[in-house]
Amino acid sequence: MKKIGREIISSLMELLFPASCLACGQPPEQFSEIMLCRSCRAAVKLLSGPLCPCCGKSFHKNTGADHLCGLCLTGHYHFDMARALVKYSPPITTIISRFKYHGQTTSLKSFQAIQQQLPGLTELKQPDLIIPVPLHFKRLQKRGFNQALLLARAFYPDQCQLIDFKVLERHRYTEPQTGLSGKIRRQNLKNAFQVKDQEIVAEKRVLLIDDVFTTGTTVNECAKVLKRAGAREVLVLTMARVD
Ligand SMILES: [Zn+2]
Ligand SMILES: [Zn+2]
Repeated sequence: MKKIGREIISSLMELLFPASCLACGQPPEQFSEIMLCRSCRAAVKLLSGPLCPCCGKSFHKNTGADHLCGLCLTGHYHFDMARALVKYSPPITTIISRFKYHGQTTSLKSFQAIQQQLPGLTELKQPDLIIPVPLHFKRLQKRGFNQALLLARAFYPDQCQLIDFKVLERHRYTEPQTGLSGKIRRQNLKNAFQVKDQEIVAEKRVLLIDDVFTTGTTVNECAKVLKRAGAREVLVLTMARVD
């Protein structure tokens, strides 16, 4: 009975508030868990292989097997593996910006559906601890939510008990990193994070969650302090990745 009740409510809601594409606002041709119209959906680019097995960079112009990228060959990153669901290109750029800066949290259900439909992220399963990249409390107050925490809950709904949003702290306030070079980002984020309780992360397989992997500086800084605190492994999952 309860299930039928929920279905009636959901059909009524669709009638009263017709769904629209998260990116362009057009009504989608068909109802689906991913709220994108056909053309926006076709424009979403998955990160296909060959990939860098470490940082997840896609060598989309190459063919052949996965291979380490130049940065990973120099041991640049502190994390063990980073993966993203989709490329950070339109319409994902628009949807993430609305989600992050305008509180369009209705996108979460679609993000979750994209993640569930993707094969190949099995290597990120079974973490001991899930840590959303923290915001500085000033930014958290201004925004009202941490987008990485909402993503963590959407991606791992059955493992919410593993999510710890307090153990890693961002104690340095930095201006938004968008548009800055890798070098400036690294300087800005140096010593910006700290682990509050080393015992919680010691010997753990930690999965960091963030919205976008741009140069990887933010997750790399987090990975550095987590490894210093004794984390056995640090994995990274972001919604999107810059090419
Ligand atoms: Zn659309
Ligand atoms: Zn790489």
